[in-house]
Amino acid sequence: AQQQAAEKLPRPKLVVGIMVDQMRWDYLYRYYDRYQPNGFKRMLREGFTCENTFIDYVPTVTGIGHSTVYTGSVPAIHGITGNDFLINATGLSINCVGDSTVQTVGSSSNAGKMSPRNLLVTTITDELKLATNFRSKVIGIALKDRGAILPAGHLANAAYWFDDASGNMITSAYYMDELPGWVQEFNAKKLPEKYLKQDWKTLYGLNTYTQSLPDDNPYEGKFSGQETPVFPVKTSGMLEKGFGVLRRVPFGNSYTFDMAKAAVENEKLGQGVFTDFLALSFSATDGVGHQFGINSIEVEDTYLRLDKDIASFFAFLDGKIGKGNYTVFLTADHGAAHNSQFLMDRKVPAGIWKGGDLMNELNALLEKKYQAAKLVSRFSASQVSLNDPVIRKNNLDKESIKQDCIRFLKDVPGVAFVVDMERASEASIPEEIKNRIINGYNPYRSGVIQVILEPGWQGYALGTGHSVWNPYDAHIPAVFMGWGIKQGKTVRQTHMTDIAPTIASLLRVQMPNGSIGKAIPEALK
Ligand code: ZN
Ligand code: ZN
Repeated sequence: AQQQAAEKLPRPKLVVGIMVDQMRWDYLYRYYDRYQPNGFKRMLREGFTCENTFIDYVPTVTGIGHSTVYTGSVPAIHGITGNDFLINATGLSINCVGDSTVQTVGSSSNAGKMSPRNLLVTTITDELKLATNFRSKVIGIALKDRGAILPAGHLANAAYWFDDASGNMITSAYYMDELPGWVQEFNAKKLPEKYLKQDWKTLYGLNTYTQSLPDDNPYEGKFSGQETPVFPVKTSGMLEKGFGVLRRVPFGNSYTFDMAKAAVENEKLGQGVFTDFLALSFSATDGVGHQFGINSIEVEDTYLRLDKDIASFFAFLDGKIGKGNYTVFLTADHGAAHNSQFLMDRKVPAGIWKGGDLMNELNALLEKKYQAAKLVSRFSASQVSLNDPVIRKNNLDKESIKQDCIRFLKDVPGVAFVVDMERASEASIPEEIKNRIINGYNPYRSGVIQVILEPGWQGYALGTGHSVWNPYDAHIPAVFMGWGIKQGKTVRQTHMTDIAPTIASLLRVQMPNGSIGKAIPEALK
């Protein structure tokens, strides 16, 4: 018997996730007057913006942010507790997407020994695959491996990321044994070289960058070989050391858009019967931000260029998929702090945190008392990890070592709170911070102590960093546009974990299996 022709479930043809690495929420407005009409402004004008979206865990870093946006979950559940982290039982450090069982595809370097296997839950992209019996296509693209791999999930058709050694987009044997013809052709164009040979000059006259400090200022890092951190940046002279510099100039974002367009074109994304998903992450904003800090002309120019690239990409999608037939969301994995010295020079309380040096001091102290070296195995993102294998071997009292560390850290300048992560719920600290520690705490993959710094303190002397709970790192943009999305905004507090359940509701697919977020009803038609 033949099935009756019935009304089909309406869904967008394509979902495009745009992660802007290190984009603070206020960048939507800091440079607003200089954005042209069809990039960020189009999203704000036609779409729905959640103006108070927060990250609900510490530390606020890239691997976790990409995982949380796509899973609606937190490190306690999804298992990605950092860009790299220790497996406490073995004491071994792993990269969040490191996978020694797979080979690089597309280069002879080791940059492709990566997969999503360390992520313990499903992503919204996985759920779309499951919901359509694998007939949807999912592709992740970024310069950073983790920016491409974690959003694309376990069931992705492909994730592609950048290889500094060859200047190619590569993947791993987790996904395929050979790069598709179109990716080989894309690589053969040698776009990174073409971009870098242009040198980085500002889009407009230097004196028009009035949202930023002067080009030459004492708070910025330099490219190697540069005497002062000023324009033009001679990227043409930086090619002999490989193509890694692409990660620290806005060309890296333009190149990622080139790859995204090639993927839509060649994989016919959004041009078939089933909804496809393109997960993009723009890594160069993070590279530029770290090196120059948020008051730099470099960052301002990078966002003005990104705005133009976004506008051009939307125009491309309007042509290929049709305006209103695709859904876009734009968000970030974390924000960034003001440079601490810059704040101090202007009488704002701040400081430079010396976490790494403290680890040596702490270990020397512990060695005297316990007669064992390197009892602290890691001190990163203000988290202290103890060396479980050494503690076991020497039959030492872990609890007593932990308490010694806590006592020591409480007296260090810049420290607001020192929290025993196992007992975070009992700590006398504000609920907001407590919840973020608990959400970030995975007993198998986290440290045992979380240090909470005073506001304004961070570990970068030049440029900037991120990883703390404070609004500058944890307040991110969350803007939706296109099919199924209302026009408008909310200032109600929403959460990074709400993005995946919102997209799940839009697509009418199950939310990811570790999701603790809530759909944002105001955004949906
Ligand atoms: Zn990041
Ligand atoms: Zn970063």
